[in-house]
Order: sequence, then C-alpha cells, then structure tokens
Amino acid sequence: MINQQIDPVKLSQSLIKCKSVTPDQAGALDLIQEILEKNGFHCTRLPFKGENSSEVDNLYATRGEKKPNLCFAGHIDVVPPGKLEKWEDDPFSGKIKDNFLYGRGATDMKSAVASFISASIEYISNKEKNLNGTLSFLITSDEEGPAINGTKKVLQWLNKNNIKIDDCIIGEPTNPNKLGEMIKIGRRGSLTGNLVFFGKEGHVAYPENAENPITQLINTLKILNEKKLDEGNRFFQPSNLEITTIDVNNMVTNMIPESASASFNIRFNDEHTSESLIKWIKEVCNQTAKNHKLNIIVNGESFFSKPGKLSEIMIKSINDELGVEPILSTNGGTSDGRFIKDFSNVAEFGLVGKTMHKFNENISIDDIRSLTKIYYNIIEKYFN
Ligand SMILES: [Zn+2]
Repeated sequence: MINQQIDPVKLSQSLIKCKSVTPDQAGALDLIQEILEKNGFHCTRLPFKGENSSEVDNLYATRGEKKPNLCFAGHIDVVPPGKLEKWEDDPFSGKIKDNFLYGRGATDMKSAVASFISASIEYISNKEKNLNGTLSFLITSDEEGPAINGTKKVLQWLNKNNIKIDDCIIGEPTNPNKLGEMIKIGRRGSLTGNLVFFGKEGHVAYPENAENPITQLINTLKILNEKKLDEGNRFFQPSNLEITTIDVNNMVTNMIPESASASFNIRFNDEHTSESLIKWIKEVCNQTAKNHKLNIIVNGESFFSKPGKLSEIMIKSINDELGVEPILSTNGGTSDGRFIKDFSNVAEFGLVGKTMHKFNENISIDDIRSLTKIYYNIIEKYFN
C-alpha cells in the first residue's frame, strides 16, 4: 500500500503558483530543494550564465551512493501564458475544476516533476535501508528557452565531477491522448535554414539587363523540397523538409527585385546528421545560385536509445498500473534528451500533452495520481 507523504497534486499546484516563465525559476526550485533536503537528498544548485545568455538556475539532487544511478529529469520553466483574457482562470492559480488541474505547466511539465518527486520520496521512506543504488533529479529552468545554460551545462558539470547517470527518465508529456499510450525512446533532430539569393534589380520590361533572384530561389527550393531524404525506419518516420517562409518584399509590379529569401526546417531521423544535411544543402545552393547567403542553425541532433532494460521496466510499470501496452516512439519536437543521450541511457514518459503550450492548459487529477504510481513502479523494479 502506497502511503504518500508528498501529495503530487498539491505539489503540482504549488509549482504552478510559481510564475516560472522561462528562464525564471520564480521559487519553484527553492520549493523542490526544501522538500528534497527534508527527505535526505543532497542538493546542488547550479546557476549558469553565458556571454550572450541570461542566467539560469538548475538543481541536481541525489540520494544514495551506490550504482546504478537512476535519474529523473525535467524542467520547471514554462512558456508565457499569452493573452490572459483567453484563460478562464489565472494561469498561475493552480485551480482544480471537475477533477482537472488548470494552469501553465500543468501538463508541460510541473505535474510530472511533482509526480516523480512524490514517487521517489515514497519509495525511499518505504525502502530506506536498502536503496539499491542512487536516485537523482536533474531539474532545469531553461528547457522552454534557448537551452544553453540548462541541462546541457548541468551534464557537463556532472561529467567534470565524475558523476555518472546510468539511466534517465524525462517526464515530458509523451502521450498524445491517453496516459500510457507512448514512451519516447528518441527524437528527430531539427535544423533551420535561412537562404538569401542576390540577383540584379531592374525593370521587368528589360529582363536582359537584370537577374531575377526569385527564379533562382524557386529552382533551389524545388530541388530541396522534392528530394526524398529517406524512407524512415523501424523507429523513425521519414525525414522531412518544410519551407516555412518565402520573402521578397517587392511593393511594385514592374520591378525585378534585388534579393529574395526563404526559410526552411528539416526534422531528420538517425539516418542523417546535421553535418551531412548541411553538406547537401550547400552543394545544392552552390549549384543553383552564384550569389547567395546561407545561414543554418542546428536545433538538435537526432537521437535514439535502443530499447533495453529501461524501456522494458517502463512498459511493465505502465502496464501494471493501467493495463495498456505503450508504444515506443520517436516523433514530436526536440527535448533535453538530445543532450542527455550523450551521457546516459534515456527514455521519456510523462503526462498527456494535448493542452501543452495552450490557453487553459490542464491535466486530469487521476492521471497525476496514476503517473505517480507508474514512477513508483519503475523505481521499485529498477532497484530490485
Ligand atoms: Zn516540456
């Protein structure tokens, strides 16, 4: 019988009440640290700052000395609430209505953080004497932002201090519609390209005296867009390039403009790296346009954690609680898993993501309680 000491719903509410719009932790990490320290965790606050980035506070907490180290990772920063009049209630009130908890971060992902903290403390209080390894938490306040001074730097700090995480579960909302549907064991990579083509401006009636950059741009985009990058594979859907904007800003009808630009994004699977894709894009552009500028930002590489002990434990734990068999997936946007995969085995499982980043973000109270039990089951199976 689980006898919860930290109620995950109350903790979710308290975390939602902290207005931790990225990257401000707004007291959320303080609250977590206080709870963890009371329960015997050793906490290290890790504020990092870069030259051109704002300071971000992070927390690494650990209990136990032995191997293996099972880490729960997550973020307490949230995206801004947007237009307040679109919310039925204050987005930071943590109101419960009809068995649903409302507020920014309810789904993504304060309630999951509350659930894994609650489950861990419960486990430790039941099995105090024989924690067969180490339980740890890596909690950042910079997942929704540029992600420069968050998880990435904490991992570098851990590495420098010879602290090894063996298996990591990220509590991001992985279920599209129903709790227990989906575990993520990888993510596609993402890169964003911006192309500017330069021609020679002139009167449309005298094209021989001009060079139209739009023609070049269209030809180039056609090649990029039509190329089949791959067929996908067992765990990944096919890679895909989407053109996101084409801009010329030509206000008149009788002029060939001087330049034309476009942006695109590629979501790519593990058959590519950003490097191989950039090489291909450069080759295409060099062939099609004499004078151009290409700027590419790599948002993250793809990653894939081979299904193994960790995912098996997760599947079994979900099945025990909900009687459903989750699928192992790699779809969706990027997450901090892109950094963690270089240091540890990693898989993601959290709440239902339907309302994340939306007005009136909310999550079922029953789901928070079920997720807490699932995390408890995972910890128990992991250490036994
Ligand atoms: Zn998130």
